[in-house]
Amino acid sequence: MRNTMQALVKTAPAPELELRYEPVPEIGPDDVLIRIKKTGICGTDIHIWNWDDWAAKTVPTPLITGHEFAGEIVELGRNVEALSIGQRVSGEGHLIGKTSRQSRAGKFHLDPETRGIGVNEQGAFAEYLRLPAFNVVPLPDAVDDDIGAILDPLGNAVHTALSFDLVGEDVLITGAGPIGIMAAAVARHVGARNVVITDINPDRLSLAAKVADVVPVNVAEEDLNDVTFRLKLKEGFDVGLEMSGNQRALDQMVEALVMGGQIALLGIPPGKSPVDWSRIVFKAITIKGVYGREIFETWYKMIAMLENGLNVRDVITHRFPVSEFRAGFDAMLSGSSGKVVLDWT
Ligand code: ZN
Repeated sequence: MRNTMQALVKTAPAPELELRYEPVPEIGPDDVLIRIKKTGICGTDIHIWNWDDWAAKTVPTPLITGHEFAGEIVELGRNVEALSIGQRVSGEGHLIGKTSRQSRAGKFHLDPETRGIGVNEQGAFAEYLRLPAFNVVPLPDAVDDDIGAILDPLGNAVHTALSFDLVGEDVLITGAGPIGIMAAAVARHVGARNVVITDINPDRLSLAAKVADVVPVNVAEEDLNDVTFRLKLKEGFDVGLEMSGNQRALDQMVEALVMGGQIALLGIPPGKSPVDWSRIVFKAITIKGVYGREIFETWYKMIAMLENGLNVRDVITHRFPVSEFRAGFDAMLSGSSGKVVLDWT
C-alpha cells in the first residue's frame, strides 16, 4: 500500500482548508484502517473552515478535518475480531474513554472525555482513516456510500426525534437545516400525525417538503398560530424538536406547545440567551438537551429504519469529487444547501 494519501488539512490557525499529501495513518492493535469513499460536510466543518472563535479554541493545527464518512476496511489491528477486510463501514466519530462513571454504566455517549475525529483527533477527510474497531459500524447493502456518509448527522436527527414518543403526536420542528429536515422524515416514519417544520429560508423549506411529508412554514411570512388553527390542533403541538439555536424559534416553540409538552434541543445558540422560564414552568414543559448519537442504540435504530424504508436521500443536494472541495464548501456557505457529499474514490 502507498504510504501517503490526500487529505483536507487545517494547516494553520486561519480560514479555509488545504488538500495536501499526508502520511497514511498507522493503526494500533485495536484499530482498523478504512479506505474512505464518501464524506459529508458538516456545519462543524464550516466553523472549522471559517476558523471562528469556537474553532480557534478547540481545534489543534495541523489537523485532518471531517467526521462524516463511509468507506471500506483495508487493514485490521491484530486484536480485532468480528470485522473483515473489504467490509463496507461507517462509524461513530466520538472516541470515548472507558473510565468515567457514565462510560462504565454503558452510557458511552455521555462520557465527558469524548474526543471527536476531525475536531480533536485526525479526521475522515482523507483517503484513509484510522478508527478504533469499537467505533466501526458495518453497513448493510440497503445503505449505500452516499447515505453511509451522512449517518452521523442522520444519527443526530434520529437521537433527537426519538427522545420522546412521537406515535400519533403533532410535532413542531424549528430549523430546516439538513438535520431538522431528516428529523422531520424520521418523525413521519415513526408515526407522528402532523409534522410542521419552520424556518425563514425558502430554499430550505422547499427542500424539507421534497424530502419528507411535512408542512413547511416560513415564520417570516406566516404566524405559527394560523398554522395551528389550519391544522386543527386544538391545544398546540405535543413535541418540539429545536434545531436552529435561534432564541425566537425557541420562544415560538414554547408558545405553540400543549401543556405538559416536551422539547428536545439540538440547536446550539451562539451564546447565552434570555429564556422565559416562568412560561416553561407554568406550561409544565420537559426539556432535554441532545448531544451526538446514543452509542450504539441510535446507530441500530437508524440503520433498521433505513432498511425499513426511511428515505432521506434527497437531503443530499450536492456531490463533488474531493478535488472540487472548494465548490462543496461554497455550497455549504451559501446557507441554502442540503447535505454536501465529497467523493474520495
Ligand atoms: Zn457532523
